[in-house]
Amino acid sequence: MGYIEPAPIKDLENPFESMMSRFHIAAQHLGLDDEVYNVLKSPARQVIVSLPITMDDGSIQVFEGYRVIHSTILGPSKGGVRYDMGVNIDEVKALAAWMTWKCAVVDIPYGGAKGGIKCNPRAMSAGEIERLTRSYTESMVDVFGPDRDIPAPDMGTGPREMAWMMDAYSRSKGMTVNAVVTGKPIVLGGSLGRTEATGRGVMVSALAAMEKLKINPYKATFAVQGFGNVGSFAALLLAERGGTIVSVSDISGAYYNEKGINIQEAIEFRNLNNGTLEGFLGAEKIDGNDLLTLEVDVLIPAAKEDVITAENANNIKARLIVEGANGPTSSKADKIINDKGIMVAPDILANAGGVTVSYFEWVQNRLGYKWTAERVNRRSDRIMKDAFDVVYKTSLQYDVPMRIAAYIVAIDKVAKTYKFRGGY
Ligand code: NAD
Repeated sequence: MGYIEPAPIKDLENPFESMMSRFHIAAQHLGLDDEVYNVLKSPARQVIVSLPITMDDGSIQVFEGYRVIHSTILGPSKGGVRYDMGVNIDEVKALAAWMTWKCAVVDIPYGGAKGGIKCNPRAMSAGEIERLTRSYTESMVDVFGPDRDIPAPDMGTGPREMAWMMDAYSRSKGMTVNAVVTGKPIVLGGSLGRTEATGRGVMVSALAAMEKLKINPYKATFAVQGFGNVGSFAALLLAERGGTIVSVSDISGAYYNEKGINIQEAIEFRNLNNGTLEGFLGAEKIDGNDLLTLEVDVLIPAAKEDVITAENANNIKARLIVEGANGPTSSKADKIINDKGIMVAPDILANAGGVTVSYFEWVQNRLGYKWTAERVNRRSDRIMKDAFDVVYKTSLQYDVPMRIAAYIVAIDKVAKTYKFRGGY
């Protein structure tokens, strides 16, 4: 397969630098001219705000909040808001670009954005987090908007924070505007099917890739790293379609059962056990790192970034990797995986089921109508399958791995739209 060396970027094991290096390779394959390359590389807007918040003890603490809009070329920008001490402007910028490519790959009419507040939500009371969320939203009233920029949950935020954001924005406008954020509680206009959407998209991508590789799901074995929202739903839905999930893991370690783990039982155990599989008796406990190199047909990293690296890529035995997590494979590992002939359904394709159903939430809010779970699933499955087929075809056309093909599809779409729209 055609392989262009990555751009001379400082730290290729850093997930965001890794992402930019794939952007660079795809841009070269497309023959993107320098002007458009620079437009697509640079974020459209960056906002940094100071948020003075009265804490429960009466003191005033100042937090820093960010929102970066990478692109609005395809439509209003979309992306989560992260609450974490590690939040900084460079990370937010990179994650915003990532959202542009992800939305473009699955062909939903959104640009990309990301936001964040540098804080430790675990050390704050619900009241403090509510004041911080409302203050952040108020300071972003001219940035956010259902036709401008639509936030969603990310690390450290969830339906509760989205409800506060929706309410704060709505108060400032003097009317209820539920389409301004997605990932809301169902009663506030959240979509059915959103919770399992990312895992479901991973399942659809895995089955589509297995069809190309002629792997029969009923005979296939799977290992799934991470047993949270993405990993557990992906494992459950694949098991329901005949797959044998021989190993799953979480922060407590990995669990192996050659005959297949009963995923429904594992989920029930986790739900009653503080969210972890520690003590699960339906499988033998093995070292967490060993999961990645098991003799399985399909490996699904669905925990965190940067777990498949130049150090362990050579030992991977799976024929297919389906990336549930964002950035689980470093770009140094790409070449090794590619040389071994392993197919990768890359993150910006395989985990885009979540943003797809977020888009459906926004569509339903704007229609003032609710879809059934069945309709949500049917439409998101179709989008995921179509996106897979387009990326697969592109990988054959350009003779490149699926990851580069996904970037080619995304960059080509945004670049063409930019050229039609024109600039100054
Ligand atoms: P989560 O917090 O629900 O679950 C994460 C899981 O990974 C937990 O089971 C945790 O114990 C496990 N884990 C953490 N470190 C681990 C390690 N070193 N080894 C094995 N397991 C480990 O998170 P999530 O929402 O499932 O997200 C997982 C990944 O998917 C992240 O990279 C996230 O960015 C990405 N993602 C999530 C969504 C979504 O809709 N939730 C959408 C797109 C991408």
